[in-house]
Amino acid sequence: MAEAMSREALAARDASDPLAHLRAHFALPEGVIYLDGNSLGPLMVGVRERVRQVVEREWGEGLIRSWNNADWIGLAQRVGGKIAPLIGAAADEVIVADSTSINLFKLLVAALRLRPGRRVILSERGNFPTDLYVAEGMARLRDSECQLRSVERTAIEAALDQSVAVLMLTEVDYRTGERHDVARLTQLAHDAGALVLWDLSHSVGALPIDLTRAHADLAVGCGYKYLNGGPGAPAFLFVARRWHAEIEPVITGWMGHVRPFAFDTSFAPAPGLARLLSGTPPVIALSALDAALDGFEGVTMRAVREKSVALSELFIALVEAQCSEFGFTLASPRVSEHRGSQVSFRHVNGYPIMQALVERGVIGDFRAPDIMRFGFAPLYLRFVDVWDSASALRDVVASGVWREARFARVATVT
Ligand SMILES: *Cc1c(COP(=O)(O)O)cnc(C)c1O
Repeated sequence: MAEAMSREALAARDASDPLAHLRAHFALPEGVIYLDGNSLGPLMVGVRERVRQVVEREWGEGLIRSWNNADWIGLAQRVGGKIAPLIGAAADEVIVADSTSINLFKLLVAALRLRPGRRVILSERGNFPTDLYVAEGMARLRDSECQLRSVERTAIEAALDQSVAVLMLTEVDYRTGERHDVARLTQLAHDAGALVLWDLSHSVGALPIDLTRAHADLAVGCGYKYLNGGPGAPAFLFVARRWHAEIEPVITGWMGHVRPFAFDTSFAPAPGLARLLSGTPPVIALSALDAALDGFEGVTMRAVREKSVALSELFIALVEAQCSEFGFTLASPRVSEHRGSQVSFRHVNGYPIMQALVERGVIGDFRAPDIMRFGFAPLYLRFVDVWDSASALRDVVASGVWREARFARVATVT
């Protein structure tokens, strides 16, 4: 084991890594090891070129003609179709629009309407805050008569009763990286007569997902994490085809109209998922995401997952071997099947230690109260990066440099 973990052995492993060539698609800054792709994916070379082309040619020269000539109007569907194979969906079951938060709202309202007589949105207490906030806000809407029930992770199954309209969960926990069994929970929800809404923000682009096989109903996910679509990239939503005829949009904007350019005076939904579009799409951001998704072409999610597990296991082994006396405890599940693509360690001084590590060029992040997160995105990370990160972490704690006052200052975004 010790030998297999030497830096030389890991460099050899990089040389034979079947995904190694993909790193060249990323415009990573010199001297940085980026372990935060689970929060904001890095810039890709193709994205930079595409954004320039969209701004200068399509917008600058094409002007309004580009809605047709560059098919800006079809981007939401086209980009959705590129995400579909990453989540085990058909091209017409995925569309890109708005933010994850707004898509959650749209799909929660739709789910409640598909389950008349049931009022409960069931979720877990540790779910990503925006998911819970959106459900809370819905419950406060006049006449919505819905209610959020959030329970501990271990109590989800028992809470699935006849009052539950929709079970809303995030596949991979944003703090610990713990992963739910999508197929099993979907089955349990269906057995109780409820629909399921999966948030794939921390899994899409990092783990194999098969919504069709899981028989999932609804899903949402982020465009700017492992999909590398850029800060604030639009999000996606998935609706299984069996619901397409029945699903009702709550934000009945003109882009969801069957004939937006007929300018009818009342709303009539477009066929299929287009009815869940609301307003004019963010063309520049959508184009960036479109170009980023080309990075997944010819790459199997199985290969991505294999490397993600290998990188994560290596990091855990190295940190535990080199930093054990410094008070780190693994917050992520030890068994890789139960983990997403991130490794989290708890440490009472996690915040300043992470700031000191970032100053050394190893970028991870921190979630209160004590979680240090390290994301392992297999498209651009090397095995030697994992070695260098663990060794930088050891230096930071062994030298005590993190105790310097400037590392304790908490920024707005952590
Ligand atoms: C990142 C993330 C979001 C982000 O929501 P936005 O509305 O796009 O900001 C939502 N849910 C989960 C689980 C996330 O990890």
